Amino acid sequence: MQKVGVLALQGDVSEHVSVLKKAAQESGIEIDVVEVRTCRELSSLDALIIPGGESTTLSLLMEREGMFEEVKKIRKIFGTCAGAIMLAKKVRGAEEGQKFLGLVDIEVSRNAYGPQTESFEAEIESGIGRLKAVFIRAPVIERVWGDAKVLAEFAGKPVAVEERVEGKSFLAITFHPEINGETKFHEHFLRM
Ligand code: GLN
Repeated sequence: MQKVGVLALQGDVSEHVSVLKKAAQESGIEIDVVEVRTCRELSSLDALIIPGGESTTLSLLMEREGMFEEVKKIRKIFGTCAGAIMLAKKVRGAEEGQKFLGLVDIEVSRNAYGPQTESFEAEIESGIGRLKAVFIRAPVIERVWGDAKVLAEFAGKPVAVEERVEGKSFLAITFHPEINGETKFHEHFLRM
């Protein structure tokens, strides 16, 4: 049984927990889901979801909890929106002192689709099916290199990327599947 943590410092935590449970149930995969608030809870996880929210706040709170090194040891991580920013190796528009995990071969531009009022929904075609994606002050993935593989694009830019390297698997998407109850990417993550 996979033990999957949802980082519960900030953002759409309960929504991720429900979509994750729904994805597991629909695909017949047994999981144990835990909301993670302290560094101690990270070491027993097989996988971690970093929800969207605000990457500057996530950075501060993860640092306050001393989590950076422990998170980097987790073998499977799924970051959505701000979570994807945390996973990126290069970030444009970072605040001074903002820290990132730097695990995925992508360069992102924070807030590059515009402010909150420019948030939008779009039908996207992805390597794992067609789905409706909700973008909220999303980052744009400007560049992908190395072992990172694009799973979906919107308006000519990648919006979902996966990377499998040295026995680790990462999934980074710039939209919010937890908001409209979209299970495809959570299911894909569980199978990775
Ligand atoms: N704009 C936010 C950031 O830079 C991300 C927004 C989101 O997660 N919906 O962190």
